[in-house]
Amino acid sequence: MKKKKIDFQTKKMIQLVAVVSLVLIVAAGVLLYFLLQAMNASARQQMTFETEEYKNRLFKQIEADFQNLETLSGFISEEMLKDEDEFAKRLEYSNEQNNFLTMAFFYPDGKGTISTRGLGTRMDVSYKNLNEAAHPVVEKAYEGEKSVSRLFYSETVNRRVFVYGVPVYTKEELAGVLIASDQIDIFTDILDGNTVLGGNGYLHLIGTEGDFLVKSKNAVVKENLNNIFEGPYFDDDEKDMLKKEMQNNQRIFSSFRYHGERYQILLDPVGMHGWYLMCVSTLQERNQYSYPMLAVMVAAVACVLLVVVFLLFYGFRLARRSSRRFRYQAYHDSLTGAKNLTYFNRRLSRCLESGSAVSVVALNVHQFKFINEIFGREYADRLLIEIKEVLDKNMETGEFFARDRADLYYLCLMEQDREKILGRLQQIMDEIVDISSHHHNNYRILLYCGVVIQEEEKDVTPLMTHVMFALTTARGSYENNVWFYDSQLHEKEKIENYVETHMHQALQDSEFKMFLQPKTDLKTGRLKSAEALVRWIREDGSMIYPDQFIPLFENNGFCAKLDLYMVECACRQIREWMDSGMEPIGISVNQSKLLFYEKDYIEVMTELKERYGIPDQLITLEILEGLATESVEELNRKIGILRGQGFRISLDDFGSGYSSLNVLGNLRIDELKLDRGFLLEASDKKNTRFRAVMEEIVQLTKRLRISTVVEGIETASNEQFCCEIGCDQGQGYYYSRPLAQDDFNQQYMKQD
Ligand code: C2E
Ligand code: MG
Ligand code: MG
Repeated sequence: MKKKKIDFQTKKMIQLVAVVSLVLIVAAGVLLYFLLQAMNASARQQMTFETEEYKNRLFKQIEADFQNLETLSGFISEEMLKDEDEFAKRLEYSNEQNNFLTMAFFYPDGKGTISTRGLGTRMDVSYKNLNEAAHPVVEKAYEGEKSVSRLFYSETVNRRVFVYGVPVYTKEELAGVLIASDQIDIFTDILDGNTVLGGNGYLHLIGTEGDFLVKSKNAVVKENLNNIFEGPYFDDDEKDMLKKEMQNNQRIFSSFRYHGERYQILLDPVGMHGWYLMCVSTLQERNQYSYPMLAVMVAAVACVLLVVVFLLFYGFRLARRSSRRFRYQAYHDSLTGAKNLTYFNRRLSRCLESGSAVSVVALNVHQFKFINEIFGREYADRLLIEIKEVLDKNMETGEFFARDRADLYYLCLMEQDREKILGRLQQIMDEIVDISSHHHNNYRILLYCGVVIQEEEKDVTPLMTHVMFALTTARGSYENNVWFYDSQLHEKEKIENYVETHMHQALQDSEFKMFLQPKTDLKTGRLKSAEALVRWIREDGSMIYPDQFIPLFENNGFCAKLDLYMVECACRQIREWMDSGMEPIGISVNQSKLLFYEKDYIEVMTELKERYGIPDQLITLEILEGLATESVEELNRKIGILRGQGFRISLDDFGSGYSSLNVLGNLRIDELKLDRGFLLEASDKKNTRFRAVMEEIVQLTKRLRISTVVEGIETASNEQFCCEIGCDQGQGYYYSRPLAQDDFNQQYMKQD
């Protein structure tokens, strides 16, 4: 896998995990928030419910006390009041019956009787002697209103009590005031420290100013405080606001922190004397069921997060490790630990881009396949590792190498001097051979290298192709085990390779075309005949010249086929001219040695000539003097038969090789073609000797009744010289280059 891909996937995974973690944290946070909200809401609801309960109880008791008092006041009659002693006894009795702490009756003059449980009755006592808190109650009752006092501490009964007062009427006239003091049950409960909220809370009774009126024994705040605004309950900012709200009889929810714990508070107005019931609950205790649940949930979320973080970390490390491994595998050869071809190509490409002058070497072991088979794979593998070690040692700054496959190593050297490269490669090969022969059964391996010196090439691919080409050449060469790539040689070999692999198909596809070059009568200057010259025109229109394939075809035997094909082309052309009523001209066709010596050559030629109905003397067969080297008699015999069959025989390229006048004398030919080389020498007018030789040859041919054709006439002076020495015909670019059949016909074979 590519590094980029792994990095991308790792990044994606981290992003995914981060998003999941974030979602989890947010979800847990939201859940916690709502849970706490719900818990707070339910706590508030419960606290409200409890304080309401207490308030109901309070009002019920006050109601009941008033009812008792009013009932008792209904029984008081004028007569009863007249006998004060008797009335005092009755009052004491009523007090005991009704469970009041104190009962008192005051006459309109403010004096009366007070009966206190357990302390007896006092008569003729002014109400002013009572606790101040009771005065307003008495005074309101005188005004005809029933009321209840604030809570106060009665020293008489040693308790915190209330006083109720009702007016007493006899015959619809105010006869006095009946009051009673009582302790209220709930206050006793509060004082005793009775718990609320199922044992998880307690109550205080608070006055409007925040004074503790009745204080629970179970208060968490242990300091002895008189006022709720003194202790840890509220901070300063809160206090002012709370005081205001309490003035307005508002219900208040709040909380306070004490010794590290947070407690919920409800201040609920009682609806009497500005009293407040203060309900305190402890969250931790009260939520004993939801807290563990919450704790479990928080722990679970924490665990999940931990796992996620772990997975993230682990995954990341794994991905990094595998990315490193992949990267290593992507650029290394697993057997030797050397770099591989991918790495080599990349680095070479960078080198070329940066303009470094390098040489690329391909190094290989001769017959590695057999080393593998004969000495075994293990041995061969060890050899490969040893080669890598030697290469490691021999690389200089900036140089690198790689193993591609089997025994193929590529080296990139920062060196372009042929001699130096050769020296270094020889040294490397010697070291490898030394080590391996030392270790491996004294078997001396043989190495060979292909080298390409980078010149202008900036692409890796052609360099690698060229180095492989050089390597292949090195393998085939027994003199040199280091072969330097030669671009011209390579081009030539490429064409040769193409020629050999495509020749049959090309013949089938008629890619071989007959071109015609005119031969001119030097006396008249008119067209005498033409030479058929083959051209290979490829599908893409490109042309291959005979020099590039004839020598090859002569070697591989294909020339015989091609020459025959050309003879047929020539016959067909003559036939066409004749068929279209034109006076045909002769065509000479080059004949290779191979064809000429084929057994049925004469029969095939004759058959062709007859098949196309070609008149005698129109087909000239151009042979090379090399044909005469083996047996002049045999050659003459064949020539004789062919001439008998109406063919003309021409000796081509005379003078190009080791021409001998002997041969000329011995062969029964019709025509002699003087090689271009003659003309090249003779065109130098100072070269009089050569001109004389040429003249002599022409004279000799005349005597032998052989006509002469001079090849390579390129200028008027060439022509003039040929005329002067008495040549019969001239051929060359001066008249025309070889032309495609159509062009030739258009130019030379117009119908009269
Ligand atoms: P060649 O038979 O001696 O053909 C003459 C060559 O000289 C031709 O080259 C022609 O184009 C070239 N030539 C003609 N006039 C001039 C001139 O004024 N100056 C120069 N510099 N060159 C001139 P081409 O066509 O490349 O053929 C080369 C050789 O290939 C031929 O030499 C011939 O030996 C061989 N060849 C060509 N066609 C065939 C063929 O069909 N069969 C065989 N066996 N060989 C052929
Ligand atoms: Mg020729
Ligand atoms: Mg020639």
